Amino acid sequence: MSEKLQQLQSQLNGINRQLLHLLNEQARTADKIVRIKENQGITEADVQQMVNGLTSQNPGPIDNDTVMYLFREMFHIYLKKKKDVKTEQKLLVSRRHKSEDTIIRIKHTEFGGTSHVMIAGPCSIESRDQLLTVAAALKNAGVTVLRGGAFKPRTSPYDFQGLGVEGLKIMKEVADEVGMVTISEIMSPSQIDTAARYVDIFQIGARNMQNFDLLKAVGQTGQPVLLKRGLSATLEEFILAAEYILYNGNDRVMLIERGIRTFEKWTRNTLDISAVPLLKQETHLPVLVDVSHATGRKDILLSCAKAALAAGADGVMVEVHPNPQASRSDANQQINIDEFNTFWKGLRDSGFF
Ligand code: PEP
Ligand code: MN
Repeated sequence: MSEKLQQLQSQLNGINRQLLHLLNEQARTADKIVRIKENQGITEADVQQMVNGLTSQNPGPIDNDTVMYLFREMFHIYLKKKKDVKTEQKLLVSRRHKSEDTIIRIKHTEFGGTSHVMIAGPCSIESRDQLLTVAAALKNAGVTVLRGGAFKPRTSPYDFQGLGVEGLKIMKEVADEVGMVTISEIMSPSQIDTAARYVDIFQIGARNMQNFDLLKAVGQTGQPVLLKRGLSATLEEFILAAEYILYNGNDRVMLIERGIRTFEKWTRNTLDISAVPLLKQETHLPVLVDVSHATGRKDILLSCAKAALAAGADGVMVEVHPNPQASRSDANQQINIDEFNTFWKGLRDSGFF
């Protein structure tokens, strides 16, 4: 190497070191700004303003497009920092706010504790006979939580809308008779007081995940809430919906993944298994998986339930009906009692229950 080249090379190394020093200085200063501006951080508008300031004073020979590109790339990390600050906000649902697991105790059942929970029952409560038949079989198998819809969110107004309060009364009677914890969906704040008399856990369905008035209203009760993930909700939207309930004073909240909408047609929804470890990691709330609505079919329930529990879910929900073909909603995905017993045995044999 010629002496001249060597000299230039070491000059360049020196410039690089200075640049590195300056970049670190830039990072420290940007960090201070992010801290002062807290939630807002450095915005796109701030970046634009800085870049404009630089291009208007650019002495060259680097052209302005390159200056813009380089500085935009550089500032990108601070925009990301701003995002981190947002997720670092101490949300009440967040593990950063509360590191230990939230355990919800109802009667003798613990959600989010050391053992898994099975929630089973029909899609809709159709009659006392129907519910009692399922509940007795489930109780006999050792299941402690009974589900069943009385207020049904149906896609078509012509479909069965549920038995309403009558259904809730049946649920309470049956649950008292067999001794089970109950869970049923409410769709509006006006249903809270009545439902509170008959059920142990309020379910907020996928279609109402962002019904903010409902979230606020259940937040003002002390009653446990099972919040279902919205049809197309991101995990961020999901935990922020849960945050509404905690923010309004109720920390007895459980999250349930129930599949999301994708292009896939072989299942009713796509079960997002990654949601389980992410929600467990990000929040301190119990996390469950509804394998029936996630798949919309019976033949893969066991595999999906095993996957959910292996991924860290605190429990599973499954729809069980004495005679699924004759059911008034979700006929294709509900399993009968024999099928439930096989499913249940499969999970027990694998050591999940
Ligand atoms: C249900 O569990 O009864 C139900 C309607 O499910 P989702 O809200 O998840 O569709
Ligand atoms: Mn259903």
